[in-house]
Amino acid sequence: MLYLHIPFCQSRCIYCDFYSTTGTAALRRDFVRQLCRELEWRKDYLLQASGEIPALSPDDWRGVRQQRGTGHTACLSSVYWGGGTPSQLHESEIETLLEVIHRHYTLLPEAEVTFEANPDDITPELVSLLRSCGVNRVSLGVQSFSDTLLQMLHRRHSAARAIQAVETLQTGGIDNISIDLIYGLPGQTLESFRSDCRQALSLPVTHLSSYALSVEPHTPLSRMIDRGQLQPADEELFLAQYEVLLDATAAAGFEHYEISNFCRPGFRARHNSGYWQGVPYLGVGPGAHSFDLVSRRVNSPDLHGYIQAAGSDVPHETEQLTRRDRINEFTFTSLRTSDGLDLALMEQQFGLSVRQTVARCALPHLRAQRLVQCGTVLRLTRSGLFVSDSVMSDLMLD
Ligand code: SF4
Repeated sequence: MLYLHIPFCQSRCIYCDFYSTTGTAALRRDFVRQLCRELEWRKDYLLQASGEIPALSPDDWRGVRQQRGTGHTACLSSVYWGGGTPSQLHESEIETLLEVIHRHYTLLPEAEVTFEANPDDITPELVSLLRSCGVNRVSLGVQSFSDTLLQMLHRRHSAARAIQAVETLQTGGIDNISIDLIYGLPGQTLESFRSDCRQALSLPVTHLSSYALSVEPHTPLSRMIDRGQLQPADEELFLAQYEVLLDATAAAGFEHYEISNFCRPGFRARHNSGYWQGVPYLGVGPGAHSFDLVSRRVNSPDLHGYIQAAGSDVPHETEQLTRRDRINEFTFTSLRTSDGLDLALMEQQFGLSVRQTVARCALPHLRAQRLVQCGTVLRLTRSGLFVSDSVMSDLMLD
């Protein structure tokens, strides 16, 4: 799996703590040039993660490549263009990046290729370009269908523009469309979120991601709350809005396959599902994360440092995962999904004693019906979903 982080936004939303900047066209060009280099420098990351080749330094690698020839490239089952706002890229920049991906990687014929876009950027021309570049899924950052809330968040699109973007995508031949909604916004009532869900589910979309607003430190939103300019939603309203979300998506026939993700049957996000299943992924661009089964790496969230990096890699930090980290990640990511935590698989990967410990920690939650067990699989129940963080933390090893 490949993730490309495109760190540009036309303007900044008040709640966002993703790494992005409002850059000039020249900065964007330099960034794309460097992203192409990183794609080349790190083309063996996924081969090493899959064990096809041993971990070697880039210099050693050049020798191995010369011996093996250049035909051995990592296969990609998904590519995700995220950000920031990938739809801020110029047409030729998208084409250049795609050409570099094809040069250094093998895109499987059935690969899911997702492109994140701001509704304002969707035009028939962009849709046609995306299709010709093999994009088969678009994720639209809609967030709300209330113009008042969109303005409060400093989103640049309107509700009408979001609806029109979905139509343009569909007319242009992209019918695997995901939209994002946020709940727990300051000033958002239960009725207003109900209306957002109704509107979202009436559109020809295949997927809905809906997250509770998280007030991140150092964002304009957190400063506005500190100054008393905005009132955060209270816990009770959050929970009532989540309940509305569960009911509305179920009534529309959507599958609830992850705590915050819903889809029409057959349209689970394959890229995100890979994250929850512990599949290795390569993330390129400033601030992007990578995972190779034994370590996590994060590129420094610094566009200028990224662009200036010379040699064979960009600035980054790597964290080696301990055995306990890997067990806890297995528990956490499995329980987030409707597939649940398979204790037999856990035993296979980490041993019988780990299985027994986790099963013992699950007992109080099974008795309280926050978890249910089917065969060897533990799953959150509907009431468990509302307290998922505390259930998961109780199952983590110290
Ligand atoms: S468009 Fe997306 S990435 Fe950019 S500031 Fe808004 S929420 Fe953040």
